[in-house]
Amino acid sequence: MTINLNDKLSSAPNDPGVYLMKDSEGKVIYVGKARDLKKRLSSYFKQSGQIDLKTGVLVKNVSSFDTIITRTEKEALILESNLIKRYKPRYNVILKDDKRYPSLRLDIKSQYPNLNIVRKIEKNGAQYFGPFSSSQAVRQTLKIIHKTFKLRKCKTKNFKKRLRPCLNYQIDACFAPCCLDVDNKTYNEIVKEVVLFLKGRTPELIKKIKKQMTSAAKDQDYERAAVFRDKIFALEKMLEKQVAVTTDFKDRDVIAIADSPEISLLSLLFVRGGYLLGKRCFSFTKTMSTKAEMVGAFIRQYYEKTHFVPQEVLVPIPLEDTCLLEDWLTTINQKKVRILYPRRGEKAQLIKMAVHNAQNSLKDLIASTAAEIDISVRLQKRLRMDKMPERIECFDNSNISGTEPVAGMVVFENGKPNKSLYRKYKIKTVNKQNDYAYMAEILTRRYGKGEKSKPYPDLLIVDGGKGHLNIALSIIKKFKLEKNFEIIGIAKKPARLAPACHCEARAGRLRSIAGRDVSRGETNDKVYQPGRANPVNFGREGDLLLFLQKIRDEAHRFAISFHRKRRNRKSMHSILDTVPGIGKKRKETLLKHFGSIDKIRQATIEELVSVPGISRKIAEALKLK
Ligand code: SF4
Repeated sequence: MTINLNDKLSSAPNDPGVYLMKDSEGKVIYVGKARDLKKRLSSYFKQSGQIDLKTGVLVKNVSSFDTIITRTEKEALILESNLIKRYKPRYNVILKDDKRYPSLRLDIKSQYPNLNIVRKIEKNGAQYFGPFSSSQAVRQTLKIIHKTFKLRKCKTKNFKKRLRPCLNYQIDACFAPCCLDVDNKTYNEIVKEVVLFLKGRTPELIKKIKKQMTSAAKDQDYERAAVFRDKIFALEKMLEKQVAVTTDFKDRDVIAIADSPEISLLSLLFVRGGYLLGKRCFSFTKTMSTKAEMVGAFIRQYYEKTHFVPQEVLVPIPLEDTCLLEDWLTTINQKKVRILYPRRGEKAQLIKMAVHNAQNSLKDLIASTAAEIDISVRLQKRLRMDKMPERIECFDNSNISGTEPVAGMVVFENGKPNKSLYRKYKIKTVNKQNDYAYMAEILTRRYGKGEKSKPYPDLLIVDGGKGHLNIALSIIKKFKLEKNFEIIGIAKKPARLAPACHCEARAGRLRSIAGRDVSRGETNDKVYQPGRANPVNFGREGDLLLFLQKIRDEAHRFAISFHRKRRNRKSMHSILDTVPGIGKKRKETLLKHFGSIDKIRQATIEELVSVPGISRKIAEALKLK
């Protein structure tokens, strides 16, 4: 600690407030709040023996600090949140955006609400459920709902133009409120059941449906009673797969933390109506927060964005600002929320379970990180590289007989794809089909901008054999970058072009169409490096080749999907351009509504007419095309 820090520390106030720690360049690297600023700051700098090793190491990066005094702790809490959002300090716990996780949106304002999968939560009066752990999980839930409750499936908002129900009505999966006179009260009952189901209140729902079944049986309405019976069967079957963890049927979230010197992992268990419904994990690297601060920061950031706050949040450690956080959660929920640190009984068992989960997930995370580091280290050795391939860029292009040629660049960082760095390219300067020329153009555009081209990759992969590699090398040499990174080419095995159908002629034709040089008789993809006549021999390290293939395949997928999108758009434009009455705006509306030209082609006249601005006459003209 410098004298400057010592002086500042001795003059720090004993009031509540916020402190901002800065590095040698004056950048804010940590923001914290304290009931007593002096006491809190001293805990970092004076008792180095008592703070954990990880925090001790991070504190060494602190060159100065500032404090802001507030009147109350509550004010400090709000200010701390705002400053964290503003500075995004490196050593604070910051929850990443949940864009990856899908949720279900129920538009309760609509007369006949339906469910949609969304990734963005908006404050527009709709009800949201989730986030779900994957797209597969959300689709599975939606499938069960449609099968059990007959909620309408279509996305249409305007039923006026629909003349007859779709197939869902024919297969008894929808009451067809679009065309038939479906009682609003009956439909709303279904919606309420779906809400209970999505909130994890299945036992309550079963009880409710059982009552309805008994009453229908009493009225000798056996057909309705049978419908209720089937619903109960389906729900009970689902319930069998869930685990009951408490006897009081309350909704709770259970938080636990597992730590290692490099990573902290927080696990969150969702208990709804006494049943354990699922878990999510959040990992944080490099944080100066204590465990209690980490849990506090997590609670503030997570519940600020989520759409459901349970009655109880169980935490594994006593928090400094439990009362403040409870007040804040109660305000969000508009119902009392309690934060509990249980030491005995059922709730303490839940914490134990969450800790166990956190430890297991942390082990998996460390193992997978170690595997990624290991693969990078081995790849560096095998390719005789000067540095570890932490950033890998891979290019591929896509076209059909030279039409709409495009290319894609994918970026892998520390073994994982970083989709925010992916780039799409439309080929601009090559008029006829020429794979080498496409590559030359794209590499020139990517690496030929001097300083603006930075950061460079550690490893550049091109899809192709020696020919492609030589082109790439000549471009890189042109910009004098050959010392900055390594280049390899991956040549596909011929079997990929000509499956085992003895169709060498076709393989030859495909080879010439694709313009790729592939090695005859090879059984595996080959990796070529400049200056090495033979392909790299991976020996027993076949996983390294698989890793490189995975990156190449991702580039292939990315380039193809971009090409497909452009083709669809173009063919749609060319078809739609010939339909009288369809101008630019209607073209856009149709594409937005149906998503692709194929779907526009498959749409019925009724479906076309249901799109705002499309009259029956236009729809009929479109169908004739
Ligand atoms: S179009 Fe009609 S029948 Fe088809 S899902 Fe929508 S409401 Fe049900």
